[in-house]
Amino acid sequence: MLNTPVLKLTAELISKKSITPDDQGCQTILANLLEQAGFTVTPFIFEDTHNLWATHVGTPSQPEPVLCLAGHTDVVPPGELSQWEYDPFEPTIKNGFLYGRGAADMKASLAVQVISAIEFVKQHPKHIGTLAFLITSDEEGHAKNGTQKVLTYLFEKNPNFKIHYALIGEPSSVSQLGDTIKIGRRGSLTGLLTVQGIQGHVAYPQRALNPFHLISRALTEFISYSFDQGNQDFPPTSLQFTDINFGLGADNVIPGKFSAGFNLRFSPMQTADNIQAIFTQILAQNNLLTPEHYTLTWRLSGLPFHTPPQSKLILAVQAAIQHITGIMPILSTSGGTSDGRFFALYGTEVVELGPLNDTIHKINERVNIAELSQLQKIYTHIFNQVL
Ligand SMILES: [Zn+2]
Repeated sequence: MLNTPVLKLTAELISKKSITPDDQGCQTILANLLEQAGFTVTPFIFEDTHNLWATHVGTPSQPEPVLCLAGHTDVVPPGELSQWEYDPFEPTIKNGFLYGRGAADMKASLAVQVISAIEFVKQHPKHIGTLAFLITSDEEGHAKNGTQKVLTYLFEKNPNFKIHYALIGEPSSVSQLGDTIKIGRRGSLTGLLTVQGIQGHVAYPQRALNPFHLISRALTEFISYSFDQGNQDFPPTSLQFTDINFGLGADNVIPGKFSAGFNLRFSPMQTADNIQAIFTQILAQNNLLTPEHYTLTWRLSGLPFHTPPQSKLILAVQAAIQHITGIMPILSTSGGTSDGRFFALYGTEVVELGPLNDTIHKINERVNIAELSQLQKIYTHIFNQVL
């Protein structure tokens, strides 16, 4: 049943229990295949994370543009094993689907990228530009020792280095292969607000200070605040409270402290600094003026990025999808953060195109086998246009 190189490689990768950030030898398999095909392969190991950088230059006098195929070998934990129809680390084919943890996110598209690239350089050994790979094992985890660190190293080593295009194999499709590509992401900003009051007996409120009463009006204002209207490519900035801590489990005690955690997803129209200033202003308007009343700490986990719709990579991806599937993809910026944010910092055009994302991170994750040969054709069509 594993009758194509893509299927064989996908199954081999799924059988490795590479729960983030443990690569479990996946990258050795890919490195060997790429090396045999003439790629120059450089592994980067940072603490617990394995990374792979590989390049193929067809014509030494023409190393540009650089098209980097990017992805990850790590997967999220399988969850409750008894709920899986098949062992999540024993790739199983049933009714045209390949089941296993990481099938859709993103071992199949990684296999398609590698096999397509190998076949492309075999057919076009003197292609222009550089076909590169950046593969990591910590995309699903803290993302500290992966793509970000490799890129920092490459750009520090050679200030003239450039990656013009990054094609990431993350599962972007919604109900049909190629119906959606990701061309950007919102930024992610997390806040933790703590309000200090004075603990006391509910019967003697004059001797206490209820921190929830201090903050409640400001909380309502945060929730109803309109940060921006978004634009044609991005939805409006949104705020969600995620964690509230208040109460001591007794109905006769006014608690002395209130804390709330929240997260904002914001577009490039907005900045983290501006959002933080808005919070400080609302607190001040509610008589919460100084750190003696409250503390507010922030963590910026991702800046927003956006590849303009008319850029060369997007046009090439759109043309390839239309040529192979007959559909025109939607350009989307929705979803959680991805490693694309790290490329975007260096002026790289970033597009994510991969299989359906309906089962990612779920029990019984699977990928449609017929889509993989289509995806291979789409990737190959893109290489032909760019290189
Ligand atoms: Zn992924």
